[in-house]
Amino acid sequence: MTMLNKPSVLFVLSVDTEEEWDWDTEFPQYNVQVENIQAIQEFQQECNSIGIRPTYFVDYPVVNNSQSVEVLKSIDQSGQCEIGAHLHPWCNPPIMPENDEFSSHVVNLPIDLVEQKLIVLLEQLKSSFGHDIRSFRTGRWGINSAVMGLLIKHGIKVDSSVYPFYRNDYFNCDGAPVEPYWPDLSDPLKPQLQEQQSSIFEMPVSAGFNHIQFTLCDKIHKLSSTRFLSFLRVPGILWQLKLLRKIYLSPELASASDMQTLINVLLKRKTPIIHMNLHSSSLINLPYSNHPFTREQMLANMKQTVSYLQEHANVKFCTISEAKKILTQNQGIQ
Ligand SMILES: [Zn+2]
Repeated sequence: MTMLNKPSVLFVLSVDTEEEWDWDTEFPQYNVQVENIQAIQEFQQECNSIGIRPTYFVDYPVVNNSQSVEVLKSIDQSGQCEIGAHLHPWCNPPIMPENDEFSSHVVNLPIDLVEQKLIVLLEQLKSSFGHDIRSFRTGRWGINSAVMGLLIKHGIKVDSSVYPFYRNDYFNCDGAPVEPYWPDLSDPLKPQLQEQQSSIFEMPVSAGFNHIQFTLCDKIHKLSSTRFLSFLRVPGILWQLKLLRKIYLSPELASASDMQTLINVLLKRKTPIIHMNLHSSSLINLPYSNHPFTREQMLANMKQTVSYLQEHANVKFCTISEAKKILTQNQGIQ
């Protein structure tokens, strides 16, 4: 079978590598559980058999636990993954008494406090893994100009905090591109219009709709989610009728068939990259998991989606920094 007619894409899997907890309770600040990290060993073997080169965005409780570091360090040293940084402000020293929804979002905290937390996290990662960290994601998503400036100051070259089309009462990613971009440092949810900086590259996770006109779909979705139309269950009706589905490329949230729909649309848009994400805590079956899928179903969703992608595209698996290098150095996808 000829491979010539297929588009070429990069595939990145990023894993928020963090404590397990019950999302229905308050954010855990001390004595958090990180048993799920032990499941990464087996998960990495699955990834190796497919060819996936995961990027583990590691947070403070994980890097502060020697057994967790042992698991991740052996994978890192074998060159099969990338270790990035993940900032959960509620459990990353210095820990503050405020522990509410608002302050769980990095973008809402005083910037001096964010810097102190970032320094603790990056230093601990460096001393545990023996090298600098170049990639980053905020806990619970979101980025702004001040935080982006800090990332540059502390040597981060790739950010992945943009969650396209997402908005809640505490932050939003309105208007952010779906494909990777050089952010405008005064408003990092927008690409820079002219060459201004090449210090940090933004690599959002793959998200979109079941139609190619993402901007229009987002407008309709936003409109249908207004209080009145939500009351009439309009977003749910549009979803059921498959008229409009907002889909995130995460095997925790989306079925294999919805992710395949999204992949078809992204390939039509000639995306250079497919970026899937999941949380390490999904690698164990939690008694209180709020995910629609079990661990086994989630892994099946991931595998089916990747093999579907391989049927429809020439896929190059890479870590997030490897993807950045390929996309920004105009090497093309080999
Ligand atoms: Zn997280």
